[in-house]
Amino acid sequence: MGRFDSVVLGGTAVLPGHGAVRADVGVKDGRIVAIGEGFSAGDADEVVDASGRLVLPGAVDPHFHLGIYRNITEDTKSETASSLVGGVTSIISYFRTGSHYLEKSGPYAEIYPEVLQATGGHSYVDYGYHLAPMVRDQVGEISRLVSEDGVCSFKYYMFYKGLDLSGASSDARGYTMSENYDLGHLFEIMEQVVEAQGERTDGSRVSLSIHCEQPELIRIFTERVKQEGVLTGLEAYSASRPTLTEHLAVAEVGVLAGHTRCPVNLLHLSSEEALGAAVELKRQHPELDARLETTLHHLALTYESYNDQRGKVNPPIRAQSDVEALWRGVKNGEIDWVCSDHACCSEEHKEGELWSALPGFGGTALVYPFMLTEGMRRGLSLERVVDLVATNPAKAYGLAPSKGALTIGADADIAVVDLDATYPVTTERLLSAQDHTPFEGMELAGWPVRTILRGKTVFADGETVGPASGAYLKRPLAADRPLTIS
Ligand SMILES: [Zn+2]
Repeated sequence: MGRFDSVVLGGTAVLPGHGAVRADVGVKDGRIVAIGEGFSAGDADEVVDASGRLVLPGAVDPHFHLGIYRNITEDTKSETASSLVGGVTSIISYFRTGSHYLEKSGPYAEIYPEVLQATGGHSYVDYGYHLAPMVRDQVGEISRLVSEDGVCSFKYYMFYKGLDLSGASSDARGYTMSENYDLGHLFEIMEQVVEAQGERTDGSRVSLSIHCEQPELIRIFTERVKQEGVLTGLEAYSASRPTLTEHLAVAEVGVLAGHTRCPVNLLHLSSEEALGAAVELKRQHPELDARLETTLHHLALTYESYNDQRGKVNPPIRAQSDVEALWRGVKNGEIDWVCSDHACCSEEHKEGELWSALPGFGGTALVYPFMLTEGMRRGLSLERVVDLVATNPAKAYGLAPSKGALTIGADADIAVVDLDATYPVTTERLLSAQDHTPFEGMELAGWPVRTILRGKTVFADGETVGPASGAYLKRPLAADRPLTIS
């Protein structure tokens, strides 16, 4: 018996404040208990040889949609397996009542236990939820969801206000199942989030995530694009929801958050104009806790290079100039984290008319490979990549210090990554139930060869290892909480 349960030997570890250094990692009872040099195989019962490899904290993918278009239990099984491919060991998934997901409305006091029941025991990664209060009664549940259920982040969708969302027949009321889903509703959510934040005695963060697109402009521009009939595919889709709609939505959030002092996360900024508006919001409200997110696909795809309807997503895939602007924001620190916004959406849901095709697609399996390959090509340090995909989202959403960094006492969530071997993205490699990928053919290095969750290898050599052992993340996570070790 060694002093560790397992030891990760001979790798280059990325450590907070130190960057990439030669270091061994000792693990006991699911946590990191030692980081240093010269540990030996005799120190542990299990040895992970990481020589020539990077040793990174498991990534935190904070924007996910478990069960949006498929049975939530089946979706949890397949899509969290896909997370392991990308070195992701924690996800936080968005859930709301209304159309899709469980196709119902009601109090979260009843519905959230159902969600947890349907997911429990089926996830390969640790998981938590952000909840969207869609009806007024749910706004009154915010305080209790924070204090009792460990949900400390919520969501509002700016573009659901009054919009015909899914074709000619259904209006926003049918979609959200809400009486009044508008800025008044948003204002009341913000007030309740601020109140819940004030009730915290541990200083932990309660926040509101916002999908920033302005629906009244989307209505007009969609009409025009359809009438003109010139543009096609993702270029048409982008023109129907132009970057002005993000700009205006961010500005509206600025006024309301500036007034209420509600901590906000501006989700999936897709364009130069959206990023500019978000930076301006922060300049105007320096006292405000506002954090900025973008996605892998908004950093990777353009309608110029991939004008394929299967890439339909909200907000849309934009132009190359937007991709360049977002990378500048990633490099200069304006953008706090990069996520997948993973939503498993099969080809059959993408067929037919552009306007009725379902939005969203998967990407969680590419978190480390894409950010290591493209990020480093564009001059990001390894430490910055780790901040963007692990440390910063963990801090924003109540998971630090247990998640998001290789530190003593943290959960032993580790991705052992091969930076030298390059493979093309294929649907099969991603282990997702999605039958296509807009990232198909992209040549990426930085694939994890092993992913470790709380000290146990759960993914190796392209396949999951053992049963789904992900645990619910009751946030904020207590650093000394008992760990489930299977
Ligand atoms: Zn999303």
